[in-house]
Order: sequence, then C-alpha cells, then structure tokens
Amino acid sequence: MKTVLITGASRGIGAACAEAFAAKGYFTVINYNRSEERALSLSEKIKAAGGKCIAVQADVADRESVGRLVSLCRYHGGGIDVLINNAGIDFYGTFEQTDPAVWDKIIQTNLTGVYNVTYAALEEIKNSPCGRIINVSSVWGTYGASCEVAYSASKAAVAGFTKALAREIGPSGVTVNCIAPGFIQTEMNARFDEGAVRDVIYRTPLSRPGSPYDVANAALFLSSEEASFVTGQVLGVDGGFI
Ligand code: NAD
Repeated sequence: MKTVLITGASRGIGAACAEAFAAKGYFTVINYNRSEERALSLSEKIKAAGGKCIAVQADVADRESVGRLVSLCRYHGGGIDVLINNAGIDFYGTFEQTDPAVWDKIIQTNLTGVYNVTYAALEEIKNSPCGRIINVSSVWGTYGASCEVAYSASKAAVAGFTKALAREIGPSGVTVNCIAPGFIQTEMNARFDEGAVRDVIYRTPLSRPGSPYDVANAALFLSSEEASFVTGQVLGVDGGFI
C-alpha cells in the first residue's frame, strides 16, 4: 500500500485530495495545524468508506513538528510515496498593508513550509519506487494578483522550487511537479463578495469556479504511473484562466 502525506488537509483542496487518494487505496496521512476536530471527522469519514488514514498535527512552518510528522508517516505508513505540499494561507491587502509580520507569516507558511516538509521527507520519498512530490502553487504566482503581493510571490517561488528540485533529483526517479489552481470554491475564497466572484468567473473560459476535486484529480494523475515521465511542470487547473 502506498502512503500519501497531504499537508493542510483538514478542509478545502487538501481534504478533497485526502478523500480521493484514500479512495484509490493510499494510506493517507491527513496533516492539520489547528483544526483537529475537522481532521478527525474527515479521518472518520474516510475510514467509514473503507479507507486507511491517520490525522497528524503539525505546523508546516515549524521544523520540529514537521520532523514528528514525517516520523509518524514512517511509523504508521512505512514511508512516504507521495507528498502533497498543499498547506497555505493568503493575505488580502495593499502592499503598504503587508507589514513585515504579514510578509514573514506568508513566506514561512507557503514557501518555507514547502521546504521544511520536502527536506524532512525527501529520504523517504527517494526510497519509494514511485516517489512523487506535488506542490500546490497558484495562478496568482504566474499572473500576479493585485493586493496579494506576498501570496503571489510565495506561489511564484514554489513554482521555481519545483522546477529546480525536479532537475536535481530527476536521476533518483522522483518526479516533482506543481499544480497551479485557478479560482477554487473553498473557504480561502469565502471573503470575496458576489461581484468579485462574478468577475473572476467571467475571466475564466470555462465559466465556473473549480471544485477542490478538480485539483485532487490532477494530483491523482501526477501521482500515477501514467505520469511517470512528467516532471518539473506547472499544471494549471484553472478553467483556462491563464
Ligand atoms: P483552505 O484555507 O481551505 O485550506 C488551507 C489549509 O492549509 C487549511 O486546512 C489550513 O489549516 C492549512 N494550513 C494553513 N497554515 C498551515 C500550517 N502552518 N501548517 C499546516 N497546515 C496549515 O484553502 P484551499 O483553497 O483549500 O487551499 C489549499 C492550497 O491551494 C493553498 O496552498 C492555497 O494557496 C492553494 N490555492 C487555492 C486556490 C483557491 O482558489 N482556493 C487557488 C490557488 C491556490
């Protein structure tokens, strides 16, 4: 049985990935930071559907807790075959409102968090016969979002991280790819009013918001044997937005 570690998996895109991978027979490690109740309820749901999983608390920005997370993957899952670096936060405000504390928090979670988990998990992933790293970036990392400078910068950096690491560890057989979602209906976007949502949908050729399962399906593809020659890519799951 293969093991997948999904960061920030108690809700949204991470939770959809957890359900999708568990349904495909993966032992699924549901990482959460603060939302214990939701992580446990997702874990119960997966188990009730016949899946195997555990929920593990860790703040991706905290190296010590990430170390514990990876040890538990080894102990309960026998290693890590697929890592999905999904945990992320955003900040909506002008650049002038992006004070150093906000900047540091975004970068530590969205970029250093990807580094922390990948660094701690890499040996396990290299030991897998089909190791995969999937980082969740964003269309805003390519396009640039007004009033989301720190978020856009962190997500662009994740794409650069992905491409560089893919080149470096390609010879080990591990693939490293990025998914760049467009507008996906999750709680992260709950703050947008109706007009803003209408505007982004208008600019999306498929004329609808994405579902977290659209992203989960792309992650399943990148984890599959069929994608074994795909690495260093940024796969847009954005309804044609870019
Ligand atoms: P979400 O807010 O519902 O989920 C984010 C998850 O990350 C939450 O469960 C949160 O608790 C977790 N998290 C945050 N900080 C963490 C930390 N320090 N340690 C561990 N977990 C942490 O949002 P979502 O839309 O499901 O976002 C998932 C990913 O997709 C994020 O990286 C986000 O930037 C990216 N993304 C989302 C959209 C979108 O439109 N929703 C678009 C592009 C990219």
